[in-house]
Amino acid sequence: MAGWWTLPILAYHRIGEPKGDHVPTVTPESFERQLACMARQRVTVVSLEALVDSLDEGKPLRGRQAVITFDDGYEETSGVAAALLRRFGFCATVFVTPNEIGLPGFMTWDQVRSVAQDGMAVGSHTLHHAFLPLLSRDKIEHELVESKRIIEQHIGRPVSWLSYPVGGFTPEVQDVARAAGYRAACTTNRGISKRALDLFALRRIKMTELDRHDLSLRAKLSGYYDVFRRLEQPA
Ligand SMILES: [Zn+2]
Repeated sequence: MAGWWTLPILAYHRIGEPKGDHVPTVTPESFERQLACMARQRVTVVSLEALVDSLDEGKPLRGRQAVITFDDGYEETSGVAAALLRRFGFCATVFVTPNEIGLPGFMTWDQVRSVAQDGMAVGSHTLHHAFLPLLSRDKIEHELVESKRIIEQHIGRPVSWLSYPVGGFTPEVQDVARAAGYRAACTTNRGISKRALDLFALRRIKMTELDRHDLSLRAKLSGYYDVFRRLEQPA
């Protein structure tokens, strides 16, 4: 059972039919199968807040748990994805980009508000989906501070979570994120990190259409994310 000490953060983008573009897409059928597998495995889906609270308190969550996240705020997040999550009683976090909200294919502010009222946490994915490592400190600040402010204004609640577009961050980006008032930030890096747990570089597991079978999903849920084992057994 040691594998279940880990707590995977699953990263989805669009849930829907493939559109032939480069957006990582999982069909509703596969998404439903993945949620059903988690339910069958008695995985408790917890919020990013519950995870970060537990880490802040130095009491990592135990047992079979996972966090579900969506990047980019595609319009299907508020439709088919939200409906399936509701059916399974699972919570999630969606990272939105204010400059893309309301564009074709993305949620509108009304839809963002409605998923927030539905219990989904809304985080920032920067103002312009910016690749932060290439920006000056002023521009990084603008991307992180303004996106947070605008989302908070629209949903009427604090925004504590950040997802770096394309997973791009540097120590300077992390400093700015901390100073801007975020509590944690997600990246996209997979694999085993040599570094200690870093709340501003939470690694996630990219979910794909290929994760159709219980075995592949179980491997993802148990294997990659080794932070908690590291906390247990400091090297
Ligand atoms: Zn993105």
